[in-house]
Amino acid sequence: MKKFIAFLLGICSVLAVFAFTGCKKKTENSPIFYDIAVRYDEDGRALSGTARIDYKNTTGNELTDLKFNLYGNAFREGVNTPPVGEAYAAKAYYDGFSYGGMKVESVTGCSAWAQGGEDENILTVNLQTPLYPDDSASVTVTYSLSLANINHRTGVTANAVNLGNFYPQLCAYSDGGFIESPYYPFGDPFVSEIADYNVVLDVPEGWTAAASGSLTGETTAAGRKKCSYTLKKARDFAAVISDSFEVCEGEVGGVKVYYYHTGDEHAAEYLAAAEQSLEYFSQTFGEYVYPTLSVVSTGFYCGGMEYPALTMINDSMNFDNTVYTIVHENAHQWWYAMVGSDQLNDPWQDEGLAEYSTLMFFETHPDYGFTRTGLIGSATRAYRNFFSIQSQLNGKADTSMTRNLSTYSSDYEYTNVTYNKGMILFDTLRKSLGDKAFTSALKKYYGKNLYKIASRDDICACFISSGTDVEGFFAAFLEGRIVI
Ligand SMILES: [Zn+2]
Repeated sequence: MKKFIAFLLGICSVLAVFAFTGCKKKTENSPIFYDIAVRYDEDGRALSGTARIDYKNTTGNELTDLKFNLYGNAFREGVNTPPVGEAYAAKAYYDGFSYGGMKVESVTGCSAWAQGGEDENILTVNLQTPLYPDDSASVTVTYSLSLANINHRTGVTANAVNLGNFYPQLCAYSDGGFIESPYYPFGDPFVSEIADYNVVLDVPEGWTAAASGSLTGETTAAGRKKCSYTLKKARDFAAVISDSFEVCEGEVGGVKVYYYHTGDEHAAEYLAAAEQSLEYFSQTFGEYVYPTLSVVSTGFYCGGMEYPALTMINDSMNFDNTVYTIVHENAHQWWYAMVGSDQLNDPWQDEGLAEYSTLMFFETHPDYGFTRTGLIGSATRAYRNFFSIQSQLNGKADTSMTRNLSTYSSDYEYTNVTYNKGMILFDTLRKSLGDKAFTSALKKYYGKNLYKIASRDDICACFISSGTDVEGFFAAFLEGRIVI
């Protein structure tokens, strides 16, 4: 996600097809498979359909139930944890408060199911028989998702419908249990595992869908259009649909790159920024594994939001902020989509690295006018201001970076601790190691953790061979002991 940054405004948080051209993508099946078919009802402002989930138990433990996140229910009236903080509420609810919600209608392939959790955000499915390690189960969820009028990951915006987190998503499994988390307003409260997807989106005829996957088929009948997609080795699937999209497209190394917009005079330049950053990150960190990358200009409360092979970009930003956000969200294809991390407890890991990768891109593309000195200077000034204000208000500032999203009290705090301090962390590390060792460590981080959920120890380990006291360095930053 891109919360917009201090040097410009102080703010908030792209895809592919290749499959027919004989690419070298890994094609083995993931342990999780989603087969989703949903229909969008424009008049009812709702999505409805089914999601079949085939699940192979790779946890090493016997399971008696499966748990799914119902992120769409965070938009209902009366929610305990609102989906947007005070700072962005007016931008999000562009037409006054509006509500939606996700409701499970039925589940088959199980003995019982219940919608519950801390904030009505979890679907628990009791399996018919215990699922032993390496065994598989299949359940089908029939559900509906009503959409709020909101510039957010899931909602109806002025020109498009954002379909992030639009289906029941299996909770990631860690330390003997499924990870359950409310939909916090600060950060991206998502941790998910790699899966394969077949998705059919049924939209009104004449509408255009931007989606995370490769389009494998399209049929029209009775005023409707069905678009079929496939996506492999991804930790989520998202789409944005609209009756007024225009699209421009290009190609980088066999990856189709799309820029969806509604009459954007800078469309060609934004597509170029998407292509350039895709090329730079591929060469610098490692291969982009998806066949397409879709950058979608749409209503959004902050800068933008990343999903595998698709990013949502706020359509009301100026040129510089839009380019910056496109590059930042593209960096998330490496640091979130391909190399996952614990975004609930270590958001610095993907956000700090996405910010720093963005800086690295602009260093090599000086025509955009962003410099390393300027970006680090802005981040440092903003962070010091934050520290000063927090200290004066509260007597102290909590600058620890390894803490749960629930501990943040504002977007201001989250942005400074995660983005700005994260950027400073990686720049300080680079100065200590030298450019070559720093970039080499990031390549290693990508190579060793592709498709995994990398821990903070995993990223630390990739820098250790440099001989510097990297563990001490990370600890000082992450625990909040470093003075900046
Ligand atoms: Zn981000």
